[in-house]
Amino acid sequence: MSTAAAYAVSAPDGTFEKIAIERRDLGPHDVLIDVKYAGICHSDIHTARNEWHGTAYPCVPGHEIAGIVSAVGSEVTRHRVGDRVGVGCMVDSCGECESCLAGEQQYCTRGVTWTYNTPVPAEQQAGGYTLGGYSTQVVVTEGFVLSIPDGIGLDVAAPLLCAGITLFSPLRHWNAGPGKKVAIIGMGGLGHVGVKLAAAMGAEVTVLSHSLSKQEDGLRFGAAHYYATGDRATFKQLRGSFDLIINTVSADLPIEDYVKLLKLDGSLVLLGLPEKPATVRASTLAGMRRSLSGSMIGGIPQTQEMLDFCAAHGIGAEIEVISADRIDEAYDRAVASDVRYRFVIDTATM
Ligand code: NAP
Ligand code: ZN
Repeated sequence: MSTAAAYAVSAPDGTFEKIAIERRDLGPHDVLIDVKYAGICHSDIHTARNEWHGTAYPCVPGHEIAGIVSAVGSEVTRHRVGDRVGVGCMVDSCGECESCLAGEQQYCTRGVTWTYNTPVPAEQQAGGYTLGGYSTQVVVTEGFVLSIPDGIGLDVAAPLLCAGITLFSPLRHWNAGPGKKVAIIGMGGLGHVGVKLAAAMGAEVTVLSHSLSKQEDGLRFGAAHYYATGDRATFKQLRGSFDLIINTVSADLPIEDYVKLLKLDGSLVLLGLPEKPATVRASTLAGMRRSLSGSMIGGIPQTQEMLDFCAAHGIGAEIEVISADRIDEAYDRAVASDVRYRFVIDTATM
């Protein structure tokens, strides 16, 4: 075991405190990573505050991890000491089920080992559940460690490990590209990367944000249009417009209103994970053969494809780097949508 510094929260309404945690000794396929940057995803906030229930405390969130390999196990072949690497939402899966064999480990039928808050044997993580990237070091099996291409800074790459792949995967699955009208609901951490990715894929991108306050940024990220959903006229004007709508909003939304913005055969994909169920009338779907779906991050091969795509297109997240003692403030600001566009913790401040 080795000791690492980490920032943990000990209760749903607690504040982050610095603690020491144990990381396991390297097994033959393990990689030890010196974490340099860790993004703050809204899922971290949902978990730290127990909004999805079942949070084990002390909780160390963080699944947008970028760093440098500092040691490797005896049989590791994919990574070497000094490599620039990333870790996203998963650190393991069964490797044998249909999903895993298809490279879609996030849908592992025997259960994914998420980067934090997943029960594991104590030999894997002292304490018996995974602890995430708000930490100076992590140990991860090599198949779940991604390579960060040289063209992207580690700080702006970190958020791609969750926000990037979560948008890249549905954009690819639903064929965003030239001739397709794609709308992104919510321009926060996920949404702003989605705008950049969809534009780089060649789609005509519209942002549906609750106000026009970030319009200039949205157009700079590649959107062709930007509408305020706080204005009811938007819903009238855009009725039947889109091939694909991706909802990244972390709060409850009147999904029915957004489904009506789809054209024939259009799909609305839910990525945001609020507590309450979404409701939609069957007739709203049936009338235009519309689909309502969801999507969860993306598999390991596609995550690497996404990082390579971002390097080729000069895409990184827009970030505000913070010291570790400002995590509580960053959470409050993220909940208030006061973030441009992702907080990233500089672990050198731990
Ligand atoms: P975020 O940075 O906080 O952004 C969420 C955006 O939603 C905000 O910027 C805001 O955009 C909009 N919004 C927030 N509160 C709202 C409200 N009350 N009414 C209307 N719009 C509101 O969050 P994030 O990190 O992008 O994560 C978004 C959601 O995705 C979270 O629920 C997270 O758990 C989930 N998530 C899902 C996956 C997956 O695999 N499916 C992966 C990662 C995260 P505007 O200001 O532009 O309106
Ligand atoms: Zn996330």
